[in-house]
Amino acid sequence: AAAAYGLSSTATNFPNTHEKLQQAYDTPWFVNNQFVKSATTQFIDLHDPATNELITRVPQNTDEELKAAVASAEKAFESWRATSVLHRQQIMFKFVSLIRENWDRLAASITLEQGKTFADAKGDVLRGLQVAEAACGAPELLKGEVLEVAKDMETRTYREPLGVVAAICPFNFPAMIPLWCIPVATITGNTLILKPSERDPGAAMILAELTQKAGFPEGVVNIVHGAHRTVNFILDEPAIKAVSFVGGNKAGEYIFSRGSANGKRVQANLGAKNHAAVLPDCNKNQFLNAVVGAAFGAAGQRCMALSTLVMVGETKEWLLELAERAKTLQVNGGFEEGADLGPVISPQSKERIEGLIASAEAEGATILLDGRGFKPAKYPNGNWIAPTIISNVTPQMKCYKEEIFGPVLVCLNVDTLDEAIDLINSNEYGNGVAIFTRSGPTAETFRRRIEAGQVGINVPIPVPLPMFSFTGNKKSIAGGGASTFYGKPGINFYTQLKTVTAMWSGEDAISKKADVAMPTHS
Ligand code: NAD
Repeated sequence: AAAAYGLSSTATNFPNTHEKLQQAYDTPWFVNNQFVKSATTQFIDLHDPATNELITRVPQNTDEELKAAVASAEKAFESWRATSVLHRQQIMFKFVSLIRENWDRLAASITLEQGKTFADAKGDVLRGLQVAEAACGAPELLKGEVLEVAKDMETRTYREPLGVVAAICPFNFPAMIPLWCIPVATITGNTLILKPSERDPGAAMILAELTQKAGFPEGVVNIVHGAHRTVNFILDEPAIKAVSFVGGNKAGEYIFSRGSANGKRVQANLGAKNHAAVLPDCNKNQFLNAVVGAAFGAAGQRCMALSTLVMVGETKEWLLELAERAKTLQVNGGFEEGADLGPVISPQSKERIEGLIASAEAEGATILLDGRGFKPAKYPNGNWIAPTIISNVTPQMKCYKEEIFGPVLVCLNVDTLDEAIDLINSNEYGNGVAIFTRSGPTAETFRRRIEAGQVGINVPIPVPLPMFSFTGNKKSIAGGGASTFYGKPGINFYTQLKTVTAMWSGEDAISKKADVAMPTHS
């Protein structure tokens, strides 16, 4: 199957050029542990964002194929749920080691299809791999509770799998987000239908191959493709008990309400507008490097990208220096030596981002660094935008209100920490936030009062490691954040509790009269 991807099973494709990896083929889907060519006539063309050359065609699976994936997962659930957690843990250990062995290959697929630099793509894989590693601790995490509630009577809880579950993934982390779902859903005994983004399913297909090699029985992990139609199928299929979604607000709010209305558990991580408050007492050099990396890394296409600076007091004087550093970043094809950021995902995305920059200009903001019109010599046809900094922004401007999801940093000025906190809390999103300060009390005040769900103190991208959970807030998560990805809440999401109360009395029942009052256990 590896050859079908135009990617060898070793790292020999890297370092490499885009040309070598570009072998057009149709992406297969994955069912019963096999790669299958779709019978569909509808395909979604996938282009290399650095060249806009066609790389593959992603099928819109037919209804029959989608039903076959569900049937496969339903059949597999009967025996998979009966396996011991130690058995599943052994398979997960193998999966983890295979991801490590195929790390470069996964990253190369991400760079080719998504555009981020190879080094950044390796980070994408790593942050997912860590979730798989943490899932190996499931025997500990799946333990129930027991209490002797009365004489000869005990109550104990078991964590049981839900059944067939589904995941709908975004384009920006083609390995990490599937790996937020595959390990936790399966180690808990569920079977999974995963829909990668139709814009870059390659990494998910390699992961599918690795699940098969790791020893997952057929039907435990299935990969289907497509856009809205596949999503609607997932939302309406009664056999699917839970849906994990990561992506934008438009799709996510719809998926949350339709999935919930159909009686499914839904966890949905949505869009963001992550702010950093910059205090004059911070370590300036550390701040400058941190923000340049977090605003422009991955071409700003991270849900935790630091896209909004709130410059407190005289720190607004630092913006020219910030622009100087941003200017030194190399924008280039992701496989190129020294590339700091690659292209954005599509020509439409480039156009949308440029439109937001133009709107800022029209609304009276200052374009301090303008990345429009940039093209690296070797890749004239890619979706390029170089780092862009917009200053003198106000909260009423469109560039502030919308998630830009590109290499664009917007900067606002305030006079005090209180004003910074009020401004950030007035924003409807609440994914991540950062403060740069050397003062413990200032950081502590900020930590207590700020409403975002993930706070960095001198840390620009505070994405929690998998022994914690991804805890966005407000409009950045559907359902008020009741279900979050990975960590203990992730285990909760993919399991339901069964609570058993048992009486083991050594004495014979002697009374002939039934006790009809509600038991008090006294
Ligand atoms: P997207 O919402 O466009 O797509 C996500 C998934 O939903 C895809 O699989 C797509 O096929 C499907 N989809 C898209 N529109 C749909 C619709 N109208 N109906 C049904 N299904 C639909 O998101 P994207 O552009 O792939 O990813 C970028 C977004 O994801 C950004 O907003 C980013 O902030 C967000 N994101 C959030 C997190 C987080 O953890 N909060 C992480 C990564 C990305």
